[in-house]
Amino acid sequence: MVKDFEAKLSEYARLLVEVGLNVQPGQTPSIEGNVEYAPLMRQCVSACFDCGARNVLPYFGDDFTTREAFLRADEAVFSEYPSYMKARIDWYLEHQCPRLSLTGSNPELLKGVDPARIQARRKASNEPTKAYFDAMMANRFQWCVGAHPTPAWAEKVFPDKKGEEAMDALWDAIFSVCRITGDGKAVERWKNHAAAVGRRVELLNGYQFASLHYTNALGTDLTVRLPHNHVWAGATDHTPAGVEFLPNIPTEEIFTAPRWDGVDGRVYSALPLAMDGNVIKDFYLDFKDGRIVDVHAGEGEEFLRHGIEVDEGAHYLGEVALVPYDSPIRNTGLLFYNTLFDENASCHLAFGAAYPSCVKGGEDLSEEEQKAAGLNQSMTHVDFMVGTKDLSIVGTTRDGKEIPVFVNGNFAF
Ligand code: ZN
Ligand code: ZN
Repeated sequence: MVKDFEAKLSEYARLLVEVGLNVQPGQTPSIEGNVEYAPLMRQCVSACFDCGARNVLPYFGDDFTTREAFLRADEAVFSEYPSYMKARIDWYLEHQCPRLSLTGSNPELLKGVDPARIQARRKASNEPTKAYFDAMMANRFQWCVGAHPTPAWAEKVFPDKKGEEAMDALWDAIFSVCRITGDGKAVERWKNHAAAVGRRVELLNGYQFASLHYTNALGTDLTVRLPHNHVWAGATDHTPAGVEFLPNIPTEEIFTAPRWDGVDGRVYSALPLAMDGNVIKDFYLDFKDGRIVDVHAGEGEEFLRHGIEVDEGAHYLGEVALVPYDSPIRNTGLLFYNTLFDENASCHLAFGAAYPSCVKGGEDLSEEEQKAAGLNQSMTHVDFMVGTKDLSIVGTTRDGKEIPVFVNGNFAF
């Protein structure tokens, strides 16, 4: 039993709708999740109407049906994208519907499915849904990703617990990292949290560091140069109309992109890396002029090498993210096998693609122009955790001033 479950569930729904989406009077939000999330989704529907929504459009999926279809449907189905489905998302786009989606599917849902079917489905849905997801990534309307436990996911996170017991443990973990206590004040706590993150984002953008220098007792000694006009971002985004929203709940990170050719030295992992169903432990990466020139792992080294050999861009970094050591997610000590959580556990770097928005005007640049501006290009993006209790990060400004950014694993300001 989760203590005060009903109170916490409605507090969670209000947090997702009021802070995550920040639904405005007259808007028509869409809410996507699996059938078994219905109790939370219904609470979200009510919370949307409480905000003055014109209407609310829930859309239910089902893991069982998805898997059964992947295994048993006619081959031709996977290269079709039905027009009624395109009409649905085109309508959302036309009406700028805020989108709340809840993740929690079995991390191994498609295990044993013919990869050709998965690939065909991805290819068939790519073009018809591109305009909608491009608009979402460009924040033309509010969107938010939250989570809901499922037994399969819960048992992966808590391998020594089964069924209900694992579900309760995952609910407790999600509530705790989402700062939900049952006192009804999560909305207030998240407004304060977002404001604190926003203050640091502003400070970092003001410094416009030329480089960051990472050191710790594991042996990390890494210099990361940052692009001219780089942009730090965290917690909140805004629509063109100026509506503030939180794309991820929970979120702790403040991130930007490194110069792809500006990384030198060695960095040690601080937490295991779960990649494509494999776990890589105790590894380091060596960099020269941005390129990974050597890797070593205590466990799973071949999977790490495969991950880096996906393409040339995967040999370079695309993200540098700052997360205090003393953060709710790391304090749980759990590996969630879900990026929404694991990415927010610790300071991390990512090899692979950079986000275009990490340099001023980056979204309007061609791929070649982005690369020239310092942004890495790759088909992959893999976050790995480097933040330890003793991590020090010192920023150097363009006129050579050194400013502590992290002291003993936490922000210096
Ligand atoms: Zn990140
Ligand atoms: Zn990332």
